[in-house]
Amino acid sequence: MRKQIAAANWKMNLTYQESEDLLEKIVGEHYNFTRDQRVVFAVPAPYLALAKEKIVGHAQMFIGAQNVYSKKSGAFTGEMSVVMLQGLKVDYAIVGHSERREYFHETNELLAEKVLICIEFNITPIFCCGEALPAREVNQQNSFVTRQLEQSLFSISAEQIQKVVIAYEPIWAIGTGKTASSEQAQEMHAHIRAQISERYGNEVSENISILYGGSVKAANAKEIFGQPDVDGGLVGGASLIADEFISIIKALKA
Ligand code: PEP
Repeated sequence: MRKQIAAANWKMNLTYQESEDLLEKIVGEHYNFTRDQRVVFAVPAPYLALAKEKIVGHAQMFIGAQNVYSKKSGAFTGEMSVVMLQGLKVDYAIVGHSERREYFHETNELLAEKVLICIEFNITPIFCCGEALPAREVNQQNSFVTRQLEQSLFSISAEQIQKVVIAYEPIWAIGTGKTASSEQAQEMHAHIRAQISERYGNEVSENISILYGGSVKAANAKEIFGQPDVDGGLVGGASLIADEFISIIKALKA
């Protein structure tokens, strides 16, 4: 059974003190986790060590970086490497969030390098894909996402792709309060899985977790996560509110 994941993307929010309080509330809640459920906290880089400390003893909880560079080390001021993340025992890294693509001009080609270096260093990339509104309006969302997958993911091996988590995040639904309907989410997740199956076979595609992201909140999580090809969510705004994110974790499929 593939992993069901509630991943929090805090983006560039919260003070150190607020982060500590939020983690304590969420981690301190009682959950009846099944073996395949996971929680990931993708916190800002300066809080990774704090988050790691707060989840000690919680086998189902992990920390993630919001970004990572494509090179191991060198003269890349301000960047963070997989080696550094490994040293902090970070298990996940978000790769290709639409905000990175838009504001920091990350291309599909650069993201392919990031995915690869993460896998080499045993950090699970949460690879984000998803179309902007104009593509959806002309019903081009499937071909748009297929291109992202082809250019950033599909040159890796079948063994490697099983170490990737995919997050489908329609850009028009991120931070906008507009959520894709559960039918729209299921349709795209099934499309992504079909593309993986075509390239790598059915067994591989059935093993890959595909998260939905875009205004997930306590009120809609259960319905979205309940779709057969949706394996949890990547959550921005609602992950900053303890009660919201706790409910989202509890909405994961068993
Ligand atoms: C995100 O940051 O990946 C995201 C989906 O944000 P929000 O939940 O706020 O739409």
